[in-house]
Amino acid sequence: MKIQIIDDSPEALAIARARLAPEGVNITTAQDGLTGIAMACEDKPDLILLDLDMPELDGFEVCRRLKGDAQTYMIPIIFLTASGDRANTVKGLDLGAVDYVTKPFEAYELQARVRAALRTKRLQDLLIQYAQIDPLTELGNRRALLERLGQSWARVQRGESLAFIMCDVDRFKRVNDEHGHLVGDRVLQAVADAIRVTCRQSDFPARYGGEEFAILVHGASHQEAMILADRCRMNIAQLQIPLRGSTISPTASFGVADSATANSSEELIRQADRALYHAKCTGRNRTCCTADTIDTATTLDNRNSRIQVA
Ligand code: GH3
Ligand code: MG
Ligand code: MG
Repeated sequence: MKIQIIDDSPEALAIARARLAPEGVNITTAQDGLTGIAMACEDKPDLILLDLDMPELDGFEVCRRLKGDAQTYMIPIIFLTASGDRANTVKGLDLGAVDYVTKPFEAYELQARVRAALRTKRLQDLLIQYAQIDPLTELGNRRALLERLGQSWARVQRGESLAFIMCDVDRFKRVNDEHGHLVGDRVLQAVADAIRVTCRQSDFPARYGGEEFAILVHGASHQEAMILADRCRMNIAQLQIPLRGSTISPTASFGVADSATANSSEELIRQADRALYHAKCTGRNRTCCTADTIDTATTLDNRNSRIQVA
C-alpha cells in the first residue's frame, strides 16, 4: 500500500520514512501542502501522514482541501502534531482525520497506528468495490454506470464525444422458464463475458439490471459505437453454452445513442432505450440507433450485419 508523508521538515520526513520502512509500504513525501495535495490527486495514496505545523498551508487547511475534493476525500489522514494540544487534536479529527500521532513519535506506536488505518482503508476499498460491481457478471453495476455516466457527461460538456449502448437479451424469460434460473444465470455470465471481451479499455460495460446491459463508449464516433455494439451482438449470437448434451445460443438486441443528438445524460439513456425498443420491435438480434427510430433504413440485422450507417 502507498503512504504519503507531508511535512515541511526534511529531518521529520527522514525519521518517519525510516520508522515506516519495516512495514513494507511504498512511501512518497512532500515538503509543503500544495505539493502534497497535487501528489495525492495524482498518486491516490492509501494513507496520508500530515504535519500540522507548516508554513503557508498548515495541516488543517491541507486536510480541509483534501476532504473537500471528490478525488481525495476517501484517503485517510493521520495528523503528526508536535504539541499534545487537545484542542488541535479535536479540530483535526473533526476535519476528517482518522487519527493523530504526537511527535517525537515512538516507532512502534506510529507503525501500529499506520497498520490500523491501512486495515480500515483496505475494508473501505473492498466495500466500495462491492458496491460498484455486479456479483453475477462481475461487470460494473447500475450504480457504477450512472456514476461514470455523470463524470463522462462532464467531459462531453468539454467537447468529448460519448456514446451509450443499451443491450437486452432476447426472449430471456424463456431460458429461465425452460431451463431454470441457474442456467439463466450462466447465460447472463456468458453474455457479460462476450460484451467484456469485445469492449476496449476505455469503454465501460455494465449490467444495467436484469438481462439488460449498457456500455459507455468514450471518444468514439457514432459509426464506431455502432460497430462496437454490433460486434457485441455477433459475439453473443455465436455463443454456444453447453447444457446437458445440447447448447443454448442466446441473442441480444442493441440500441445506440450518442452525445451529438442528446442534450443531457438522461436523454442519452432515453434515446438508446428507444433505439433498443425499435430493435426489439423489428425482429430482435439487431442493432439500431437513434436515427432508426425515425428512419428504419439504417437498421442492422443478421442478414445484413455490415454497417451501413450514413
Ligand atoms: P425480450 O426479448 O422482449 O426482451 O423478452 P425477455 O423474455 O427477455 O423479456 P422479459 O422482460 O419478459 O424477461 C426478462 C427476464 O429476465 C425475466 C426475469 O426473471 C429474468 N431475469 C432478470 N434478472 C435475472 C437474473 O439475475 N437471473 C436470471 N436467471 N434471470 C433474470
Ligand atoms: Mg429486459
Ligand atoms: Mg429481454
